[in-house]
Amino acid sequence: MIYDQARWRRTEEPVYEPLSAEKAERTVDLDDRDVPLPDELTRDEVTLPRLSEPELARHYTRLSQMTYGVDSGPYPLGSCTMKYNPKFTEDVAADPAGLIHPHRGDETTQGTLELCGRLQDYLARIGGMDAVTLQPPAGAAGEFTGIRIAANYHDHRGESHRDEVIVPDTAHGTNFASAALAGYDVIELPSGDDGRIDLSALEAATSDRTAALMLTNPNTLGLFERDIETIAATVHDAGGLLYYDGANLNALLGRARPGDMGFDIMHYNVHKTFATPHGGGGPGAGPVGVTEDLQPFLPTPHIRETGDGFETYEPAQSIGKVHGFCGNWLVLIKAFAYIARLGDPGLADTSAKAVLNANYLGSQLDMEIPHEPYHHEFVASAGDKDAAEVAKAMLDHGVHPPTTKWPDIVREALMTEPTESENRDTLDQLARAFNTVAAGDEDDFADAPRRTSARRIDQVAAARDVRLSWHDVEFE
Ligand SMILES: *Cc1c(COP(=O)(O)O)cnc(C)c1O
Repeated sequence: MIYDQARWRRTEEPVYEPLSAEKAERTVDLDDRDVPLPDELTRDEVTLPRLSEPELARHYTRLSQMTYGVDSGPYPLGSCTMKYNPKFTEDVAADPAGLIHPHRGDETTQGTLELCGRLQDYLARIGGMDAVTLQPPAGAAGEFTGIRIAANYHDHRGESHRDEVIVPDTAHGTNFASAALAGYDVIELPSGDDGRIDLSALEAATSDRTAALMLTNPNTLGLFERDIETIAATVHDAGGLLYYDGANLNALLGRARPGDMGFDIMHYNVHKTFATPHGGGGPGAGPVGVTEDLQPFLPTPHIRETGDGFETYEPAQSIGKVHGFCGNWLVLIKAFAYIARLGDPGLADTSAKAVLNANYLGSQLDMEIPHEPYHHEFVASAGDKDAAEVAKAMLDHGVHPPTTKWPDIVREALMTEPTESENRDTLDQLARAFNTVAAGDEDDFADAPRRTSARRIDQVAAARDVRLSWHDVEFE
């Protein structure tokens, strides 16, 4: 496949210039306004960019041609589950009936509360949990919420001496960060040779200081923790709680439930499992499920059915608020619509295809995959090549590369997750991209990517020096 991304050069594509040049500024006289506002909140004039509709439409269309997303092609970014987001969920969320003011009382928002209440029930049933809060705005925020629930639970039982959270070395960085942010000492658990939890290491790490073990299952190598019942018993016998990182729920959907494995708390990444857009730091949702014992600690407000409707209330020992109101409502509508459309058979089909696609793609690669058999994702090794350079070279094949260099127990890791939404042709295209780059000489792609609109960007500066507004950009 021949691939070239649109390359509107800066001189042709005025990304920021029209907003900065003198013609950009149009002063609107606000003297005639008839809305009574407090003086300290008003201005006499406001400066707006002066752009016509065609200029704006073309500007954004060109920008969209210069970027890559899950609507342009496959996006096998392992652990992130970048599945395609069906457009009907956008239609549902765009219904003006959903645009309600959050300060409206429960009596006039019964439809909203019912949808949230039913989504809580759907998620509880899918995860095998007793209660779910929709409030946290991301998976990481869900982790922090869940660990705070665990902390309050231990405090409430007079066990505030528990000051350690155990996290396996294959875990996502947010697990370590959430536990540390909640005030815990983080104990990193080295994996066994097979990439799974080492039971004797777990036994040695647990004690009366253990507050929780945070576990991803299947883990980030795509491996199911076969000893999950023994793991759960070890942690519970020590008085700790079991936290399930739901990022890989796609592998189990409709087939196995964290609650049945012994987990006490879990988060759901609705943007991974339930096809809502990834937030990119923006609005997402990371609902948290808990067992009955932990229900009183859920964030406030929580939603419950009363018999003749739904209401919001503050749970008895609530940890407080973790986000505004009941959460990012428009994202939650999409998750609800997706689950309702698929139903139980559709959800089970999703995990079947996710696992089949990962195994098919893995079988087509001329690369070592050290840990097998895996489920919905696998971690290939780039061997002598630098995984980040392999990723850059793959961009020239019109695909998004996999996640690189994590987990670090695999040498030059390429963590790959095609998701259930790709068909066989697309998986073959991905396999060709992997294999062509794997067979090539690293010197040949030292200046890759060549066919994309942005070439070798400074990744550190891009992550650390983020400028989200044209106000912050200095023009040459
Ligand atoms: C994505 C991910 C998270 C964090 O979720 P966000 O919604 O991105 O905050 C946590 N754990 C794992 C394994 C993940 O892949």
